[in-house]
Amino acid sequence: MTIQQNLPRWTTSVDRSSIIYPSKWPVWVDEHSDGVDWHCPQCNALIGEKCHPRRILDILTCCPRCNILLAFPSRLPGECYTQGAISLPGRGCHLDESMYFSGKGMSIVAQSTVDAYDRECGRGQTDSQQELILDSKYLLDKVKVLENIFGTDLPSILDRHRKATSTRTPPKDPHRLVELLVYVRELSDCLSATDDLVNVDLDLNRLSEFLLASSMFHRWRHHPAISDLTRKIAKGTEVRHSVMLLGLASYIVDEVLPVELKEATALGRSADLVTRPVLHEELLIELKTPTALQSPRVQSLSSGEAQKILKKVLGAATSGSRKQLDAANSGMVAVGAFGITDKDFAVLNQAARDLLRELGSKKESRKPYLAGFLTVNAKAHVEFNETKPSTLRFASALEVNMIPYPGYKGALNVRPGIRTGGGILSPPGR
Ligand SMILES: [Zn+2]
Repeated sequence: MTIQQNLPRWTTSVDRSSIIYPSKWPVWVDEHSDGVDWHCPQCNALIGEKCHPRRILDILTCCPRCNILLAFPSRLPGECYTQGAISLPGRGCHLDESMYFSGKGMSIVAQSTVDAYDRECGRGQTDSQQELILDSKYLLDKVKVLENIFGTDLPSILDRHRKATSTRTPPKDPHRLVELLVYVRELSDCLSATDDLVNVDLDLNRLSEFLLASSMFHRWRHHPAISDLTRKIAKGTEVRHSVMLLGLASYIVDEVLPVELKEATALGRSADLVTRPVLHEELLIELKTPTALQSPRVQSLSSGEAQKILKKVLGAATSGSRKQLDAANSGMVAVGAFGITDKDFAVLNQAARDLLRELGSKKESRKPYLAGFLTVNAKAHVEFNETKPSTLRFASALEVNMIPYPGYKGALNVRPGIRTGGGILSPPGR
């Protein structure tokens, strides 16, 4: 059913707005939606016909009949627009004919919308510097970024951690972020005593996880969901999940399409990420970071163990009262690993392919809303620079694979379009 609605009149400054000056009405016609009929409140001209409510964002339109300025809805903080969005430059443009939206993904947003979105997720800000000077000062700068998360509680948190880990029965599940901070502070002290990295005992997995965390929390610092994540991480819960979530979100934003971080609802049933390949269908992504896929692993991953891990995460995401994915939307399950070997990652990917093939081979496809698995491995690539011993060529990268589900019956065209093996950070300079 189409809703009739007046567009609000715009009376404030137009400095940074994208304005359309049309000569005909309706200005926009949406061929894919019942949506909203937008009218001019002064002369009642039909400005937008049957428009999807999020099809046009942050755009001002001059009424072609009575010349007043009208405002289409604004993007909400954190909201992502569709993959096929067209951005309109700030100076605006003239439109001589009605414009028809024939594609489901197409939407119109202001350039300021894209700029605001980019700022929230730190898109286009990654440092392209290839060489990392791994000295004490560099590390301390990064330490401070993460220590800020704890605010004034930092001294007591460090004190508690020191006491807990110096007992005969150290805690089984220490605060991961505090552990990383303590390690990197020690490393920094060690580096201030020597400038030759070859003499330093580096734990590359811990260093890589630390640099990923610091660069992710810096990158997403303007995002509305960051305070929620920061609170969680300060409590010591979901440290790796939060870091991997920001890493995966960065990868998707940089390589594929805009993505939205979902804040947990009171029911705890919201998936972690949402993308809108088209306006009418969301793709939800639920991320799991099983402890069995975190370095150091005692032995290499067998295909039986990988299958068991994947079945468990798939079950948790798609069944029971706390499931995050269901038939209401297309969904994917992302499985995040920290620093596992290439061989283990290959075993995990093969197990995911086998599991999905098995699930989809049943006569009635099970979980037809499931689009597939995303597998992620956060790992470090490091090379010593022989001519300059105090520098490292260091890239902390996420390796991401998409494994489509053959039994997926949803509306999206899901192919392994997500590029594999791409690094999101090279190096994690910011
Ligand atoms: Zn009018």
